[in-house]
Order: sequence, then C-alpha cells, then structure tokens
Amino acid sequence: MTALAALLKRCTVIYAPAGNAGEYSELATNPYTGCGHECLYCYVPLAMHMKRDAFNAGAFKRRDFLARLQDDAERFRAAGVTAQIFLTFSSDPYHLDDTQATRWALEILRDHGLGFCTLTKGGLRALADIDLFRPEHDAFACTLTSLSDTFSRKWERRAALPAERIAALRAFHSRGIFTWVSLEPTLDVESSLAIIEATHPFVDLYKVGRANYLQEITRTTDWAAYTQRVIAKLQRLGKAHYIKRDLQTYLPTGYHNPLRVQQHHGPRAAA
Ligand code: SF4
Repeated sequence: MTALAALLKRCTVIYAPAGNAGEYSELATNPYTGCGHECLYCYVPLAMHMKRDAFNAGAFKRRDFLARLQDDAERFRAAGVTAQIFLTFSSDPYHLDDTQATRWALEILRDHGLGFCTLTKGGLRALADIDLFRPEHDAFACTLTSLSDTFSRKWERRAALPAERIAALRAFHSRGIFTWVSLEPTLDVESSLAIIEATHPFVDLYKVGRANYLQEITRTTDWAAYTQRVIAKLQRLGKAHYIKRDLQTYLPTGYHNPLRVQQHHGPRAAA
C-alpha cells in the first residue's frame, strides 16, 4: 500500500475518486448533497441512488462535514502531503443555495498546506471566494457545453449562463489563477469546438469527454471525427489538454495525453 493510500484509509471526507471522476482529480471532497442546477445529464442522482427530484431540490451541507474535513486536513499536514483537493463530485461548489461551506472548506484546506480546485457552473457566484485562490497552489474550472443561452437553458436549466461562466474564467485568469474547462459532456460537437475558440486566451487546460448517459447523442455523434477535430484545434492553439478514456480509443497511437498535469502556476514539481 502506498503512503497516500494508507493516509486515505484514515480519512473520512477526503478520498481518491474512482472511474470517470478519478480522471478529473486524484483527490476530492464533497461538502454537499443535492444541487439545484437541474442539469438534465447529471449523473450524480444515479451514482448516489437518489431520486432526481430530491437531488434537484437543492444543496445541503453534509452532516459534520467541516469538522471531518478539519480532521482529514490535519492528517494530511501531519503526513507532510501537500496535494490539490477537488470540489466537488456530488454537487456544485457554487450552487444556488448557501455556499458558505465552500468558503470554509477552502480555508481549511489552505490553512493545512493543501491546494484546491473548484469545478462549477455557478458563474460569477464563485467570485465570492476569489480572494482565497492562490496562483501557486489552486485552480478554477468551469464546465461548458455550449455558448448558446437557449441550449444552456434546456440542458442546465438553473446553472449560470455560458457568458457568465466565461466571465468567471476571465476573472480568475486575470488574478493569475490556473483555469481549466471541462468539455464533458459533449452534447454538440460544433459547440464544444466553438467553446475552445472563444475561451483559449484565458484557459490553461481542457479536459475533453463525451456524452455517456444520453443514448440519442451517443448514437448519432461521430466520436472518432470529434476526437480528431478537437485535438487538431487544441494543438493549433497550443493548449494543454487531456482526452478522457471514453475517447482515447480514437487517439493516434502513442499520443501524448497525460492524465495528471500540474494545475497551478507554482514552481514545477520535480519529475
Ligand atoms: S451542476 Fe453538476 S452536480 Fe449540479 S446538477 Fe449540474 S451536473 Fe449535477
């Protein structure tokens, strides 16, 4: 067992996500259950065995979450581990309800020498915590599926509109924070390609996936052609990217596609 695995065995709210989520981050924590953004493609109710209506009713802080995070962060500090922790796979850190627990969680991580990364569709709501983000430790990320308000209102009914999410990315980039965009799910090929064109000046990294739980899109999309086009565009623009496992079968043999890269602007860790 590795030292990290041994450490995680003693933790209760910091964990190593598996499968699809594990491609996003080595370590994560989930302050909330539920999310009011009502994304039609959201996999979380399925994964958590929750009724979709109950999940959509809003976000609630998990019981004792902050005290347990404090204990886990202390274990990390005692072990001298300074990793970046992802928020969150069970909700959105900047959902529509009270997100004070997000701020407290980021403060706990910071105060114990840990980095953090938030992935959100909350748009400018994230600016409430921008003062906590540090260029040399932290990252800010948004999921984008389209540049169209109409499209977004259909698929992500109560999330911030695309222009607002993009404004948040610009704001974090302007503060020197590492930014990345999740192009997962890809609901429309042309939209994902247009997002790259529109955001590449202020986005450091793209993570590209497909649509997994939406049979109509999965059946009708030429994923091989999409993969070729997306890597051609990202290469032309000189942008770092990770193509998720579901699309890796369409990559050229030997394609450089690192699972983990440094997601902050601090000094490079020794190889
Ligand atoms: S923002 Fe994320 S957690 Fe919330 S409904 Fe959408 S996909 Fe689910």
